[in-house]
Amino acid sequence: MSDISALKYGLTHPIVCAKCSEDVLQGRSGGLSMREYAAVDVGFTTIGIQVWCRRHNINVVHIDFQGNRLPADFRCIEDPVDE
Ligand SMILES: [Zn+2]
Repeated sequence: MSDISALKYGLTHPIVCAKCSEDVLQGRSGGLSMREYAAVDVGFTTIGIQVWCRRHNINVVHIDFQGNRLPADFRCIEDPVDE
């Protein structure tokens, strides 16, 4: 894995908490954007990866790998100029 193109910011569909999203849409986030308001933990579980909303203490999504082992790249690149 020498190609670093996949390590740049490439989110096309952010995963957001439904309750946080509602807070932002209803003006209950104190003027913060969804990205600023979101407070999540992301991590591996016994079955896959889970996103957990710390603000509401609820599951956002739990992705079940169904026993599959998927390729993952944990290398970090620092290139703040190239957005
Ligand atoms: Zn939330």
